[in-house]
Amino acid sequence: MAKNNETFVTQIARRDMDFPQWYTDVVLKTDMVDYSDVRGCMVIKAYGYTLWEQMQQKMDARFKKTGHKNAYFPMLIPESLLTKEAEHVEGFAPECAWVTYGGSEKLAERLAIRPTSETIICSMYSRWIQSYRDLPLKLNQWCNVMRWEKTSRPFLRTCAFLWQEGHTAHATFDEAQAETLQQLDCYRDFMENELAIPVILGRKTEKEKFAGAYATYTLEAMMQDGKALQMGTSHNLGDHFARAYNIQYLSKEGKLEYCYTTSWGTSTRMIGGLIMVHGDDRGLVMPPRVAPIQVVVLPIAMHKEGVLSKAAEITEKLRAAGFRVEMDDRDQSPGWKFNEWEMKGVPCRIEVGPRDIEQGVGKCVRRDTLEKFTLPMEGLGDALTALLDDIHATMFRKALAFREQKTVRASTYEELKAGIQNGFVLTNWCGETECENAIKADCNATTRCMPFGADEPDEGAVCPHCGKPAKTKIYFAKAY
Ligand SMILES: [Zn+2]
Repeated sequence: MAKNNETFVTQIARRDMDFPQWYTDVVLKTDMVDYSDVRGCMVIKAYGYTLWEQMQQKMDARFKKTGHKNAYFPMLIPESLLTKEAEHVEGFAPECAWVTYGGSEKLAERLAIRPTSETIICSMYSRWIQSYRDLPLKLNQWCNVMRWEKTSRPFLRTCAFLWQEGHTAHATFDEAQAETLQQLDCYRDFMENELAIPVILGRKTEKEKFAGAYATYTLEAMMQDGKALQMGTSHNLGDHFARAYNIQYLSKEGKLEYCYTTSWGTSTRMIGGLIMVHGDDRGLVMPPRVAPIQVVVLPIAMHKEGVLSKAAEITEKLRAAGFRVEMDDRDQSPGWKFNEWEMKGVPCRIEVGPRDIEQGVGKCVRRDTLEKFTLPMEGLGDALTALLDDIHATMFRKALAFREQKTVRASTYEELKAGIQNGFVLTNWCGETECENAIKADCNATTRCMPFGADEPDEGAVCPHCGKPAKTKIYFAKAY
């Protein structure tokens, strides 16, 4: 069996040898995705899509709790609509895909396949919002978007991907700002408490903010190669889009005012983050609260009388108790199955053999630590609930400790440069785009964010690159 294990595991590259290859091996060999016939477009297979469904449900419930409703807008945007907000079109034009023909007829105006939906949603909001009574308007849509990327990697960068985009309109700037930060915190709650991923919250620089936004806020996570992944963003759009798309309302005082709008989004990119934060050399490690399968039941010595029926009974009981559980009674050796489910990252497996049945227990293995122990069948549901919670907490703590260990506080440019090779760098900074560009060119790293509650520069500190007085603290890192 040992030999069998080895051959199976060597199908995945080692993380410390070739992290990009490890990632590709994992997403393909665990049935998360496949490549399609269209360059840069991925197919999300059932195992990957079930994970996305779990994530969707958990986010959607949070959005609805704070008064958002779902709607759907068309995927085609007339060019004239897209070009109304100048910064926005400049930001997105290079990666737009265009529809120029309808059947065999050339269109009078070409149509963009949505790279994001601010423009079409704002144009509708300008019709729907008339008075202060129509505010706030808080919609979200779950859909696909398209960005014509030159290079692609499954989940991380593909031409077509799935996401949600929230769009809200408010009477005042302050209300829009409160919404922007509320949704950012909603994402933090989701990422920490469902995905077990620690995130750094903060504001993007002028250079890195969303095209046309007043301010962009972000959630940044560290991958196991020390690079950053932007897990989600929330934008206060000020009144820029309201002015460009004429979203006005009649105030209580009878005055015509412009609205303040926000948008916020997360995508299937988070799945790439989940894989790169938690995975190990055996493959995926699924955070239990979103895992497509939380528990797999493996009957051992299936041919022996009573084993299959007992395993099926346990499976049914757990399913009825609300667990996402599967029984694997395929005609394969136990060793093959252990490897298969470990590779797929199922948080917990329970082995049930003739002797276990006699003793009224199951052999349990948790995926995150590979620890083995027995659990009594009596009260199994409660024990598993506690176990899955512990797996979640352990995964979160491990990821947080890793990030802290690979974060350098730099005060000189040498420290900054060295730190970036290893992970995140937190440093005092002058805040100037010119300096940001120079560091990016020299270190191949970008500013990630000015962290909330910790962006005050040290007293009298100077920028380690240009020596000017520091205006803020900021994170630099290489990023996906
Ligand atoms: Zn500087």
